[in-house]
Amino acid sequence: MMQHKVPIRSCVACRTAGEKSRLVRVVRTPEGKVTLDLTGKAAGRGAYICRSAECLRRAVKERRLSKALHAEISEETVQQLAKAIEQGLEA
Ligand SMILES: [Zn+2]
Repeated sequence: MMQHKVPIRSCVACRTAGEKSRLVRVVRTPEGKVTLDLTGKAAGRGAYICRSAECLRRAVKERRLSKALHAEISEETVQQLAKAIEQGLEA
């Protein structure tokens, strides 16, 4: 039997499953801040999306991200997350 050494997650927007490294984790911190978790280890409730601002916006628009995180996501937060994803892609 093959074993998955890498945890498989799926994007809350498009449902594409991928290795953890292909997706990015959005986390609601214990302080209630919604932020991008580039380490994948931040404490708090998390949801995965593709490393794509398009999937981020779709996840927010369809309210999947707020449902997954049990948090309201403001437009300001969306902008910050989109920016962080774009910067992460360049890195
Ligand atoms: Zn996606």
